[in-house]
Amino acid sequence: MKIFVVNAGSSSLKYQLIDMDNESVLAKGLCERIGVTGAISHKAADGREYKTETPMPTHSEAFAAVVYAMMKSEAKVIDSFDEISAIGHRIVQGGAIFKGSCLVTDKVIEQISELGAMAPLHNPAHVIAIKACIKTFGDKIPQVVVFDTSFHQTMPPKAYMYALPYEYYERLAVRKYGAHGTSHHFVSDRVAVLENKDKKDLKIITCHLGNGCSITAVKDGVCADTSMGFTPLDGFMMGTRSGSLDPSALTYIAEKDNLSAADINTICNKKSGMLGVSGVSNDNRDVAAAAEAGNKRARLAIDMQRYQILKFIGSYIAAMNGVDAIAFTGGIGENDPELREYVCENLGYMGVKIDKEANKCRGKEIKISTEDSGVDIFVIPTNEELAIARDTLAIISK
Ligand code: ADP
Repeated sequence: MKIFVVNAGSSSLKYQLIDMDNESVLAKGLCERIGVTGAISHKAADGREYKTETPMPTHSEAFAAVVYAMMKSEAKVIDSFDEISAIGHRIVQGGAIFKGSCLVTDKVIEQISELGAMAPLHNPAHVIAIKACIKTFGDKIPQVVVFDTSFHQTMPPKAYMYALPYEYYERLAVRKYGAHGTSHHFVSDRVAVLENKDKKDLKIITCHLGNGCSITAVKDGVCADTSMGFTPLDGFMMGTRSGSLDPSALTYIAEKDNLSAADINTICNKKSGMLGVSGVSNDNRDVAAAAEAGNKRARLAIDMQRYQILKFIGSYIAAMNGVDAIAFTGGIGENDPELREYVCENLGYMGVKIDKEANKCRGKEIKISTEDSGVDIFVIPTNEELAIARDTLAIISK
């Protein structure tokens, strides 16, 4: 059984075709510059590639290019649509409406659209992509939506409420929703497998550290708290995002520099974080290289990032009254041994002991703590596409 996984942005469309019989990727690809020019790069599992530039005024042309790549190009992997059993879409914001994945219906599309106010960069693009996908593949192939927020819907009110006047929660649904839920779910499930224990019996902290970063506390098998909030700006510093700070700093800057709410939003989302502090780049590799070469602001950015990550982990250890396992994932989490070593050494008071040799690893699933460590520490490459495909299969099998 083959499942087609779609991750659509406003100008891009990432996809994978996954064979669920053995959970292998048959093909994956990316359409870029949708609405501007248009280009597709597609790769089959055996290494055959298809790349071309072709006009993509809308997502419909992008899907047409994907269909050509999958069914007709030199890197084709299927003969017809009939081979695709279902399509799974990644959706960034499900608000408090979607507590799990579900089949796409007109009502669901409308609800995702309405939630667009809380994810203006993502949900409107998802809606456009779902409609274009139905137009391309017809309505005989079931389509499922999988939300980045739904794993976090188990948070108790004391974790998701902000201490603002209650009316903003009631009237505008302002509260913490979290993000990266599909990844935290996938990684915490893997931790339970590697621990050979029921997830319900574990206290787990999952650290998804990529361009966007979030940390989640998983207790009794479900999300107890997470660092991202009303939007994916909350938490700790990221590539270009500030993470949490005193809101008064923002009102002060806005007043002093005569900036609008939209200006402040842009500064916090696009000009802050590793980029804003270092002045070098949003990419951790560049910032680390600059720090190594003596750039003081780059060093400061790295030091701040590590310190903030450590503090979040510490706060979740307190929130759960302990921790059994901590897992690192995402581009940084999977590839930055120094950050992992910093965190582990600063948890030494809890008996955390890192295996320095194992910790040299990059991008593979491995336990990096010693056998006598008080807490198990893992590196677990995330696989959000597979998680979406699994959910999609579960929904259509109901
Ligand atoms: P996204 O959130 O866009 O999916 P990724 O999970 O790919 O992003 O993470 C991107 C981040 O991972 C970048 O900051 C990049 O520098 C970092 N990264 C990727 N590979 C390495 C590496 N080998 N060493 C250190 N950092 C890395």
